[in-house]
Amino acid sequence: MAKREVAAQSVDAQGNSIEASEAVRTCIGCRKSGARNQLVRIVRSTNSSGETVALVDVRRSRPGRGAWLHPIAECWTLAIKRRAIGRALPGVTNVGDVEAFAQNGLPHLADHAIRT
Ligand SMILES: [Zn+2]
Repeated sequence: MAKREVAAQSVDAQGNSIEASEAVRTCIGCRKSGARNQLVRIVRSTNSSGETVALVDVRRSRPGRGAWLHPIAECWTLAIKRRAIGRALPGVTNVGDVEAFAQNGLPHLADHAIRT
């Protein structure tokens, strides 16, 4: 009885999450898929100034368009090189912040996300 809805239904045209329980996501860095609970979610949101920003969604529960990455520096490096974050979350104004986060917060997140 594993939850294994493969995409389609609860996903929008761009392949984004609607808070359902799809078990597998594709990393925008290495483009391999991984278990949803082993990937870090970045979500597009709006800040108090009305700007469109990307946030790291540690709990993977925020509403909004999301992108997924393995909590591995290599994947973030690939995503940054390819500008995959900006492509996956068009319109966000703080891609640099997210990239900086990869340097600072990743070890903590990795610890949180890799081993359940
Ligand atoms: Zn990856």
